[in-house]
Amino acid sequence: MKVEGGCYCGAVRYAVDGEPMFNGQCHCRECQYISGGSPNVLVAVAETGVKYIKGAPKVFKRGDLANPVTREFCAECGTHLISRPPSMAGVAIIKLGTLDDPNAFGSPRMAVYMVDKQPFHQVPEGMATFERLPG
Ligand SMILES: [Zn+2]
Ligand SMILES: [Zn+2]
Repeated sequence: MKVEGGCYCGAVRYAVDGEPMFNGQCHCRECQYISGGSPNVLVAVAETGVKYIKGAPKVFKRGDLANPVTREFCAECGTHLISRPPSMAGVAIIKLGTLDDPNAFGSPRMAVYMVDKQPFHQVPEGMATFERLPG
């Protein structure tokens, strides 16, 4: 599957060639910062199939954490595009809202990090839920 996406201002664009290994919504506290308060809606793909095709993201890792997530976002408009958790080597996590067609991979299939879910977060009826990550 080949899709493209980019940030709100268009300065940074990426292309993905691969199948999703995970398609879900993450309720973790970190995602609440990145999304603005809601769960983040994400698809995980092998990072070998992901490349930037226009511009380059600013890359940020918290210096006060032992194993920080790498966060890639547009330095101009601030849109978060891709994250790379150290616990998932070789995986790039794409923010679905940055795809040209956010529906390209279909609807999220599971809710993860329910341990951090806020009372105002919505989980669709029948969606699989996990306290943290599956398995
Ligand atoms: Zn931008
Ligand atoms: Zn999260």
